[in-house]
Amino acid sequence: MARGQQERTVGSAAAQALPTRRAALAAVAGGSVLALLPDAARADATTGPARTQDEGFMREALAMAAEGDTPFGTVIVRDGQVMARGPNLTRRLADPTAHGEMVAIRRFLAARTPEELKGTTLYSSGEPCAMCMGAILWCGIDRVVYGASTQDLAARITRLPMPALTIATAMAQQAPFLKVEITGGVLRDEALALFETVKTKP
Ligand SMILES: [Zn+2]
Repeated sequence: MARGQQERTVGSAAAQALPTRRAALAAVAGGSVLALLPDAARADATTGPARTQDEGFMREALAMAAEGDTPFGTVIVRDGQVMARGPNLTRRLADPTAHGEMVAIRRFLAARTPEELKGTTLYSSGEPCAMCMGAILWCGIDRVVYGASTQDLAARITRLPMPALTIATAMAQQAPFLKVEITGGVLRDEALALFETVKTKP
C-alpha cells in the first residue's frame, strides 16, 4: 500500500474515533494528550530494511563526507533524485550546528519550499545526532538512512550522541505527528573507512 493511502486510511480511522469533549477534557486533566488519539493515529519511529536504491545514494553521501571538516556528509533524495547535498562545515563556518544534515537541509530550503522536504529520504555517512534528528523530524523527512552507527564511531568521537532511534522514539511519544523510518548500516565499512583516515578526536 502506498504511503499516501496509509495516511488517508489512518486519517479516516482517526476521524471515526474522534473523542467526545468529555473524554478529551478527562484526558487532558490526566496529563495524557496521547490518550485522545486512537492507536492507529499515533506516530512512531521504526527501523526498516535497506532498499535497492540505498547504496547508490549512500555513495553520494560518502562523497560529501569526504569533503567535510569531519567525515559526515548528507544527501536529501526525492523521487529518485538528489535534491540537496551537505558536507560537515563546522570548522569552515565556525558553526557547531553546521553538521552535514543541517547544511543539506538549509541548502534544500534555499532553493525549495518546506513542503517539498516532506516525504524525502536523508542519507548520511554517520548516524544523525540529536540536533539533526530533531531537525529531520520537524522538517517531515520520511526516512533516514545512515552508514556508520553511533556505536561504530564510539571509539573515535568524544561527544557521543544518543542513538537516532532513541531520539526519534522519544519525540514521537511526546509529539504524535512526528515520525520517521530509520535504516542503518548501509555501506557501513566504506563509511567507517572515511573515519579511519581522518582524525576526528581533538
Ligand atoms: Zn548532527
